[in-house]
Amino acid sequence: MTQTRKQPPDPGVVSRLDTAEAVLDEIGCRSEPDSLYLCTINEIIRAAKVLDLPRRLRLILAQPKNELTMHFPVPMDDGTYRLYTGIRVQHNNVLGPYKGGIRFHRTVSIDHIRALAALMTVKCALVRLPFGGAKGGVIVDPTTLSEDEVMRLTRRFTSALGSNIGPDYDIPAPDVGTNCQIMAWMADTYANLNEPDRRLGGQGVVTGKPLVFGGSHGREKATGQGVVYVLEQLLPQLGLDVHSLTFSVLGFGNVGSWTAKLLCQHGAKCKAVLDHTGAVRRDTGIDAKALAKHVAKHGGVAGFAGADAVTPDDVYTCPVDVFIPAALEQMITPELARRMDCRVVAEAANTPVTPAAEQHLLEKGIQVLPAILCNAGGVTVSYFEWKQNRQAETWGPRLVDRRLKAHMVAAAHRVKDIAKQHSCDLRTAAYCAALDHIAEVYRIRGIFP
Ligand code: NAD
Repeated sequence: MTQTRKQPPDPGVVSRLDTAEAVLDEIGCRSEPDSLYLCTINEIIRAAKVLDLPRRLRLILAQPKNELTMHFPVPMDDGTYRLYTGIRVQHNNVLGPYKGGIRFHRTVSIDHIRALAALMTVKCALVRLPFGGAKGGVIVDPTTLSEDEVMRLTRRFTSALGSNIGPDYDIPAPDVGTNCQIMAWMADTYANLNEPDRRLGGQGVVTGKPLVFGGSHGREKATGQGVVYVLEQLLPQLGLDVHSLTFSVLGFGNVGSWTAKLLCQHGAKCKAVLDHTGAVRRDTGIDAKALAKHVAKHGGVAGFAGADAVTPDDVYTCPVDVFIPAALEQMITPELARRMDCRVVAEAANTPVTPAAEQHLLEKGIQVLPAILCNAGGVTVSYFEWKQNRQAETWGPRLVDRRLKAHMVAAAHRVKDIAKQHSCDLRTAAYCAALDHIAEVYRIRGIFP
């Protein structure tokens, strides 16, 4: 009987792993064709190709280190119980403790959280913070719960996380649907459950806390402030000036409202805003501060008297210099990209533009400033907060701003320089700047054992 032996794979082909599909296939990780995780790993592999990174790093970065799924009951105000699902994904910690937000939203899924955790790894590396990447969330619409119910849900989720978080290991922060009050409940629960950290107050376990309980000056506005610093660095080369530009915003929560308020303070004009409650437009300029007050009181932009109520399409098609998506992921589809009338898209939210939409925008000559650069201000001031907690210090608002600006300016120049060096788009350049740093640290540390 003739035996056929399987030929050993061609080492040239095996070592390439040039696509996200090939890498995920190799590690046996299944992902839907258009999933956010696949898109994120695609960006990482695209940059790995530009840098010619070794095969082992492509495999390591395509796979989160740890994934935790927890199911837990929470008592409701009416005496009934509801079962919730919480997730924490720890993507990579070669640069330092895991770091990343906690999201309370009905669309939370393992695919999304994995993608957002991987984004945190590259974001922290790009701005040179000593943190790795993580993300977590609970599948819940917090707007349907009372404050007490949100508190019990938060405390129960924190206890389920147990020692999988900690000031030296994994440090959560706020994200969509969570805020400084929720961070305070997380820190308090953690401190009560963990004896050694209780003596230190346990504050360093989360960032984005209220100022009176170990928070940092400037954390609330940090992400918006970071967007503004990036625009100041990158717009002049595109012939635009932050002091005189026009812009519109998708999403008017923490990031969208602070970006808009700070840009208006610089003299820029906000022409249109869209959120989950409605859309408003005023071509002579919307008072962003007044709109933020309205949103705080009414929960959204709908009903704002200082602008005309319009359709979402009137916001997307409104001619502006800069369009700022600051809501959720993958909201800018090719269909919307075709209708948008702007010169620059500044990604204040995490990956708000789909890869196909980005292609359309680039073909129309619209520059896309990538999220891992634009919105890195939040995690940067989180790092400052963590540092202040560890050193029992309080930095003044000016010091925080000065240090934030230094990180953002350096990161923006890093991206600009790499884009020039490799003749690539800004997104690929940002990922290259991050991966180059991660690769160097892996080279120095080696891989255990
Ligand atoms: P937020 O909850 O404060 O605000 C979210 C906004 O999105 C709200 O205005 C909401 O109305 C809007 N929105 C939600 N669904 C929408 C829909 N279908 N159509 C239109 N608008 C919709 O959240 P945030 O903290 O401002 O975060 C926004 C984005 O920025 C997220 O992608 C988040 O991951 C990212 N981000 C936040 C921070 C931070 O410090 N908060 C830091 C980095 C990145």
